[in-house]
Amino acid sequence: MIVMKFGGTSVGSADAFVQVAAVVQAAAERAAAQGTPGVVVVTSAMSGVTNLLIQAAERAARGDERFHREQQATLLLKHQGVAGQLVAEGSERAALTNTFEQRLGEFDRLCSSIAVLGELTLRGVDVVSGLGERLAAPLLAAVLRAAGLRAEAIEATELIVTDAVFGSAAPLDDLTGQKCRARLLPLLRNGVVPVVTGFIGATVDGIPTTLGRGGSDYSAAILGAALDADEIQIWTDVNGVMTADPRIVPNARSLQELSYEEVAELAYYGAKVLHPKTVTPAIAKNIPVRVLNTFEATHPGTLIVEKARAESHGTVKAVTAIRSMHLITVAGRGMMGVPGIAARTFGAVARVGANVLMISQSSSEQSICFVVPDSSAAAVVNALQTEFRRELEHQQIDAIQPRGSINILAVVGSGMRGTPGLAARVFAAVAQAGINVIAIAQGSSEVNISLVVVDEDVVPALRAIHDIFELHLPTSQRTHRALPQ
Ligand code: ASP
Ligand code: MG
Repeated sequence: MIVMKFGGTSVGSADAFVQVAAVVQAAAERAAAQGTPGVVVVTSAMSGVTNLLIQAAERAARGDERFHREQQATLLLKHQGVAGQLVAEGSERAALTNTFEQRLGEFDRLCSSIAVLGELTLRGVDVVSGLGERLAAPLLAAVLRAAGLRAEAIEATELIVTDAVFGSAAPLDDLTGQKCRARLLPLLRNGVVPVVTGFIGATVDGIPTTLGRGGSDYSAAILGAALDADEIQIWTDVNGVMTADPRIVPNARSLQELSYEEVAELAYYGAKVLHPKTVTPAIAKNIPVRVLNTFEATHPGTLIVEKARAESHGTVKAVTAIRSMHLITVAGRGMMGVPGIAARTFGAVARVGANVLMISQSSSEQSICFVVPDSSAAAVVNALQTEFRRELEHQQIDAIQPRGSINILAVVGSGMRGTPGLAARVFAAVAQAGINVIAIAQGSSEVNISLVVVDEDVVPALRAIHDIFELHLPTSQRTHRALPQ
């Protein structure tokens, strides 16, 4: 049994839907021929829809009642446009139109009540933002039926039971497993392809939640784990995971194989291929994940497994950048040997809910620096100034300095573990390109070396690192270039 998830661009237009139908049909036929029928489809919202829904809710909260009314029409047209081309006129199309109108009626009522309240809660955002998938799934199911498959749209609120952390809910595994098996297995046994909404779930009490932006990948992995799938396929619009962002590094290539650990690291550091949590359920059940291209379905894409096939020692797999960051430095001679500064620093940071992406402390203990997203920098500085008011007054801490225009570059590969000289090559590459490295960190897992650079150095640094490790070549063809003397 396989779970196939289609992203927003894969369901972005009528042409894309046609590709998806062909891909699902081929998979269903292959599975039937092997005597292991069973294909579960998970879909994202049509591209751009989730953003639009969130924007409408936000504008409603500011009292704008016009925007969501206009968008209601746009959304109807967008979905009807696909239906008009791919679903024959008749009862099937009429039922679909009815579903769209119902969902969009819900959208209207929700935005109107948000406008009355003048306030948008995370819970409210979840209900509105999940509507995109609830429009896309019935549409895709109808398109698959029009292509001759038996398919049924299912809302994940019936399947994925989550906690009540709105905006990034986590599944409750046991309940989710039970519901998925009870609802989906009978369909699969009858040769029906369930078309499940990605991104959404519901609490035990049935209150709608979302798994976080880009969360449909995660939905697919949750269903895959619940059903003990043979493979989880993430169908997107690129040929798998690449050695770097091809818009920045033109000779980037797709990777044949990655480990769960590597892909999690890449996702965490800004590579936009997979939702960072996707591998967690896959790891738990040791299910391979494959990233494939809807628009070039014969490309093998990238296979993600527990241990990537033995590659030569010291293999760097990819380099990625995470942008729009602030570097915060807490510095002072008086910090030396004073216990608890680090704990208090990160305690203060945690209180404002900021996500720390990288930490580095010099051994002289005269400064701690760490990286947070731009959006939380001001709150973090405030919290630290309050926390260390006394130390600042007594000049044990000299300053709490925020610095913007910061980026983290992450060089990733589990083959780096135990291989000497890799950090030297990374730094030789950036030095040769005349780039100033502001801070450095390597986790003891040795699966990533991170460096901090300013905005204008991101592109040259990514290219220099990609070049020095010859990432444009398959591993077997790389020469081991000597370090410059
Ligand atoms: N539609 C949701 C989003 O845009 C989930 C997804 O596409 O994975 O974030
Ligand atoms: Mg996505």
